[in-house]
Amino acid sequence: MQENVTLAPHTTYGIGGPARFFREAETPDQIINSIQFARKKSLPFFLLGAGSNVLVSDEGFPGVVIKIKDAQVRVEGNTIIAGPGIMMARLVHTAVAAGLSDIEWAIGVPGTLGGSIRGNAACFGGETAARLDSVEIYDARLDETRTIPAKMCEFGYKDSIFKRRPAWVILSARLVLPNGDIPVSYQKILEHSRVRTVSQSIGPKSAGCVFKNIPWSRKDIERTKILMLHPELAQFMNLPEIPASFCLDRSGMKRERIGAVEVSPVHANYFLNHGGASAEEIMMMIGVAKDRVRRTFGLELEEEIAKVGF
Ligand SMILES: Cc1cc2nc3c(=O)[nH]c(=O)nc-3n(C[C@H](O)[C@H](O)[C@H](O)COP(=O)(O)OP(=O)(O)OC[C@H]3O[C@@H](n4cnc5c(N)ncnc54)[C@H](O)[C@@H]3O)c2cc1C
Repeated sequence: MQENVTLAPHTTYGIGGPARFFREAETPDQIINSIQFARKKSLPFFLLGAGSNVLVSDEGFPGVVIKIKDAQVRVEGNTIIAGPGIMMARLVHTAVAAGLSDIEWAIGVPGTLGGSIRGNAACFGGETAARLDSVEIYDARLDETRTIPAKMCEFGYKDSIFKRRPAWVILSARLVLPNGDIPVSYQKILEHSRVRTVSQSIGPKSAGCVFKNIPWSRKDIERTKILMLHPELAQFMNLPEIPASFCLDRSGMKRERIGAVEVSPVHANYFLNHGGASAEEIMMMIGVAKDRVRRTFGLELEEEIAKVGF
């Protein structure tokens, strides 16, 4: 357990102050011990995967940050059992090399399996929940481990039960994948990587999409009224959500700057840290973006990124 560790280098934004305590946990026991350490000190804990979907405050986190590094993986027939710290790209390569498929979509998600289960990471028509069989969790409230089937995880668009149960820590997961054809899978991987390179800002520091897309099914969305006022949204009528990036772009957010933060000129839902940006600057940009989209479309944006230490 280390003390006062700056979190910025552990996030893809490169932003964030110190954790009061910090530990890299490589096994389930180390994860559980770290949580018990936090409990003994009456401190909150925070689980960090690859830090690719978080915004850590400039003040840091006044508790125990546990960086999940348990990346054990084994393949048994069509089943993959993996630790929560395995990077999605490694999971994809492990599956494809074993002749399994339907996970190629995840190649460019720069996060861990644990973070991807919590947020039901998705792209190119695939989502983490789709091939998940079960999840082993540590319930920090009851101090016990148990296995829950995927169908009990309340998966939805960028959502799962883990967002509502912060005491549930993912310790491992079982995925069941169909047989594939290795050259076809590698072709898909190449194609997904190519599309990502041209349609997203891959080089600069970011946390991917800041906001979730806006589901048509959301209670506050009056579909007919919105389409009457904004016929340009009709092109998304047959999709489950209105892309937040479209709304941000049409609200004039591309290239908007606050300090070292710029809204990507390529993908308006990516905020870029050009070097030395603060969490406060990102928060200000979030406020500006929400306000613009509200005034342009009358739509409320909801953050996808997890905010830590605010
Ligand atoms: C360039 C770029 C492209 C991206 N593209 C996509 C994309 O196409 N699709 C997509 O969905 N996302 C995308 N993302 C966002 C991000 O990579 C995913 O959301 C990813 O799944 C986050 O995983 P992580 O390990 O980085 O989680 P972190 O950011 O470290 O954590 C996210 C949340 O998960 C929790 N968490 C982490 N591990 C555990 C665990 N073991 N148990 C319980 N909770 C846990 C954390 O406490 C936190 O609340 C992108 C990000 C970047 C920077």
